[in-house]
Amino acid sequence: MLLLRCPHCGERAETEFSYGGEAGIQRPPDPAGLSDAEWADYLFNRKNPRGAHAELWNHALGCRRWFIVQRDTVNYRISESHEL
Ligand SMILES: [Zn+2]
Repeated sequence: MLLLRCPHCGERAETEFSYGGEAGIQRPPDPAGLSDAEWADYLFNRKNPRGAHAELWNHALGCRRWFIVQRDTVNYRISESHEL
């Protein structure tokens, strides 16, 4: 089982959390100015890297806050978790 460290509550089992996808994705400042392909890229395409990855997690069964986890997708090691 994966253990995640909520910045507010401490280390807890993965079952208390919900995964929110890749962290750091910025909404385009002018969505109406984008082509359909650019908008689809923003909505659906993610990096899915092999190795270090910044992820959003929500402590759904705890404080309900969102935070960022730095996790290696190869070995599941978590190097850091911090507030948004
Ligand atoms: Zn928490």
